[in-house]
This record gives sequence, C-alpha cells and structure tokens, in this order.
Amino acid sequence: MKKHNYSAGPCILPQEVFEKSAQAILNFNDSGLSILEISHRSKDFVAVMEEARALVLELLGLQGKGYQALFLQGGASMEFLRVPYNLLRDGGKASYLDTGTWAAGAIKEAKAFGETIVVASSKEDKYNHIPKHYAIPADADYFHCTSNNTIYGTQIKEFPETKIPVVCDMSSDIFSRQLDFSKFDLIYAGAQKNMGPAGVTLVVVKEAILGKTGRNIPNILNYQQHIEKESMYNTPAVFAVYTSLLTLQWLKRQGGIPAIEKINEAKAQLLYAEIDRNPLFNGTAVTEDRSNMNATFLLKDETQAQAFDQYWKEAGISGLTGHRSVGGYRASMYNALPLESVQVLVDVMKEFEKTNA
Ligand code: PLP
Repeated sequence: MKKHNYSAGPCILPQEVFEKSAQAILNFNDSGLSILEISHRSKDFVAVMEEARALVLELLGLQGKGYQALFLQGGASMEFLRVPYNLLRDGGKASYLDTGTWAAGAIKEAKAFGETIVVASSKEDKYNHIPKHYAIPADADYFHCTSNNTIYGTQIKEFPETKIPVVCDMSSDIFSRQLDFSKFDLIYAGAQKNMGPAGVTLVVVKEAILGKTGRNIPNILNYQQHIEKESMYNTPAVFAVYTSLLTLQWLKRQGGIPAIEKINEAKAQLLYAEIDRNPLFNGTAVTEDRSNMNATFLLKDETQAQAFDQYWKEAGISGLTGHRSVGGYRASMYNALPLESVQVLVDVMKEFEKTNA
C-alpha cells in the first residue's frame, strides 16, 4: 500500500533522492566504494561539499552578498548555543521572540551567556499565534526568531524591520517559501525536514557580523573557523551532506523555491479548507499565523480519537499524531510531500465525517 508520510522530521524526502543516496551507499560515483567509506578529503567528496554550499546560496538568492553556507553538526539545538557564543558580546544583550518550545530552548541557551530580552511571547496562549506588537532594542547585539513553529503549527508571515542583525531558526520551513533572505544575517536549520537526513545542520551566515564579541571561541563552536576550513573543520556528516545536495538539486529542477512555494500553498489550502469545513475538527493555530508546513488540529470530541486513528492508518497515512507535548494531530507537509497525499488525508476526514458526525 502506498504510504503518505506526514512525520514532522525526520520525514519524507523525494523518492529519487532516496534512490540515488541508496545507490551511493553501494557505489559512490562508480568508484566501487561506498559514500560511507570514502575520505571526506577525497576529490569527489570535496566537490559534493562545494556544490552543496554554492547551491544553498543560489537557491536562497544570496550568492555574492557576503554570505557563507556551512554544513555543521549538533542539530539546530547546537546553534541555540553557537549563536550567542559568536554574537553576544560580554556586557551586551540579546533579544528573542518566544513563539514556541524551540524558541524557548534557544532563549535558555542565550541566557547562559548574558542579558537576554524576550521581546514578546505567546506562551500564555499555548503558542497559538505569533506576537505582532513589540519593540526590538536598538542596542541589542542581535534579534532571534523562529520562522516556523513545528510543534504549534504557526509561521511568521512578516518579519520585523530592525537595524540589528537578525538570526532565524528556519529548521522547519527552509526552502519552502520565498523570502528576502538578505534581510537575515544568520539562518540555521536542521536538515531533517526540508533538506536531508538528520545529522547535519545548515548555517548561512553573513561574514561581516562575526568576530565582534572579543570572546575566545573554541574552534568547534566558532563560525569563522568553519568558514576558513570550508565546512571541513572536522569530519563532516558525509552521507547527510551528500543527501542534502541531492535534495537541493531536486529542488532546483522543480523550479527552485518559487515553484515549490506554489505547491506548498496549494497543499496547505486544501487541508485547512477541510479543517475549517468539517464539523468534527478544529484548527489550533490562529488563522492568520497558520503554518504552511505543519497544520495542527484537534477532534472536537476526543472520544472519537481511536476511530479516527484507525481511519487514517488504514489509508496508509503515517506520522499524523501531534507532538507529544500538545497532543491532537499534526500534518507536516514538507516540500517532498505530494499534493495527492494531502488529498488522501482530506478524503479520510470527509469519510470519517459521513459515519461519525
Ligand atoms: N528548531 C525547530 C524549529 C525545530 O522544529 C526543531 C526540531 O524539530 C529544532 C529546532 C531542534 O532541532 P534538532 O533536533 O536538530 O536539534
């Protein structure tokens, strides 16, 4: 039976990416060796890293604008720490927007370094919206936000204007929609949603913002070191970088971010229209802040959960259960999820209504 994978990450990747990366495990570039056993210093892998770094900047429209793309390790969670280490001056302050569990995790790490101002939070409303009215201190070292809140299904549609460096955790919506990426000074994203397997984190940083803290930064945590070593300071996650390159190449063939954004909008509209129409369900996020990547919803009558779960599982759907901290349902519709899979879910919801309304 065809499967429809709604997992929040690790999640679905394009089928052709799975096929090519599986082939590379057996025989990479006809070398007779596996991608898992070749040296990261070999000519073939250096070419992979170079192409992946360049393609990231090309797809984001950041080539020639003073940015560097890095493939690091430690997940997005490591960047919660690396960001203040590299940007927050001794005696300086950082500013953060609290829009969910991951934003709160980033705030916690920054607090270990210095004064950290939370400019606004939607925590009291169970993170069901993005705060809109707040002031960013002009003397802060940077402003940090989370573009898409994977757990709560909210997404920042308009980013605040500020003169201080803007740092953004784009783990769950990188490469999914058009933005003026040059408005961001540092973007990071765990690969395991829209790019590749877990194990590698993309960091895109404007070089000019680095080197201002006066702090002695350990090499492994120092963005400048990783830039100088061309993202090979230590052994990179070779397989994860290669698979990410395959996904980036796939995205370029689809027509890049403008083309995938259209499909993502169509998928989100289809599902949200059904959530709003169907009398058995409620969306959890405030309508104007709804995420096009993660749609969160609840059954109005929770006693129907067992029956509904059986319906979608029988249709080949997997990964629809909400995050363990919030419950309900979450449909993650990353780039590689086809529109047909969303139609299957919508049909299941309609079918369920017929017998359970
Ligand atoms: N930030 C966001 C927005 C996420 O969705 C996640 C994980 O789902 C993380 C950070 C944490 O990422 P990692 O597990 O790669 O550290």
